Amino acid sequence: MHLTDKFGRAITDLRISITDRCNYKCVYCRTGNEGALYPDLPLFDYLHMARLMVGLGIEKVRITGGEPLLRHDVVEFVRELSALQTLSGRPLDIALTTNGHLLSDLAQPLKDAGLKRVTVSMDAVDPERFARITRVHNGFENVLAGVRAARKAGLDPVKVNCVLLRGFNDDQIPEFGRFAREEGVIVRFIEFMPLEEDRVWSPEIVVTLDEILTRMAAFMPLEEIAHAPSETARRYRFADGQGEIGIIAPVSHPFCGHCSRIRITSDGKIRTCLFSQVDHDLLGVMKRSSDEVTMRYIRGVVEKKEQRHHIGEPGFQKPSRSMVHIGG
Ligand code: SAM
Repeated sequence: MHLTDKFGRAITDLRISITDRCNYKCVYCRTGNEGALYPDLPLFDYLHMARLMVGLGIEKVRITGGEPLLRHDVVEFVRELSALQTLSGRPLDIALTTNGHLLSDLAQPLKDAGLKRVTVSMDAVDPERFARITRVHNGFENVLAGVRAARKAGLDPVKVNCVLLRGFNDDQIPEFGRFAREEGVIVRFIEFMPLEEDRVWSPEIVVTLDEILTRMAAFMPLEEIAHAPSETARRYRFADGQGEIGIIAPVSHPFCGHCSRIRITSDGKIRTCLFSQVDHDLLGVMKRSSDEVTMRYIRGVVEKKEQRHHIGEPGFQKPSRSMVHIGG
């Protein structure tokens, strides 16, 4: 029997953070002063957790962080994961989210180890703006090289995620349209969520799906194309058929009703929602129990998954961890 929660949602996607360290200090994510808050685990612990979860019906694993490419053994981790099979006997779908800074040398080894797809975060296509956002010099050149290496390695489709903040990088919308078409990548805009270490979120800063569509239309109109209900992004192609854009709109168009995700943090806790107020100590249970007991524990935790987030509602409570310490 596959993992399901009490609202009947099938849970098939797992995100594992393999560190909460990051080599970028993006202004909308980090304070710039905080470092890692939680320990990294040996990769065999994450593998053990993944194996149990796959045994319960997980079909897709996304490796994230912090910055996952800071783990020197990430290629080996992918190789071990790729040996796992889903309950229906298919290979596990393995993806990775990265800031791309270290990707150019790792794209081919990751592909050879069994990685299927990669998502690269990139919040500007202008080097100076990129440095202001990430607070790292010369990052843009590294990330662009990483995106190109990922395409060359066949980590298709390469997706580029961009979080838009009003008055900061929203003027980059048409530039990203051009970038998607020229580089052959799918650019996905993400609405900014209240998950930052500092308190900078306000509804006014969020650039919404409707606004993105309107502003991209000034460059070239978009037509919506079909997307699977559990997919986070709505998908669009340019009117002339060349290039694809996605928009992830958890604030203006929440998709909690179709959520199929759970997360494991770098210190081995399960989080059933980005906005959870509690963590569940999977590592602790796994260390002192049999696999059978641990799997029962996972079922019990998943069953209690939150129905939805409450962004923008009166009484909204910030989650107990920020994005970089959860795993995006
Ligand atoms: N270091 C990797 C990276 O940069 O992709 C993985 C971790 S990062 C936390 C994952 C994604 O979360 C990035 O695309 C980042 O832009 C996004 N993110 C961070 N804070 C966010 C927020 N408050 N709202 C929406 N997305 C956010």
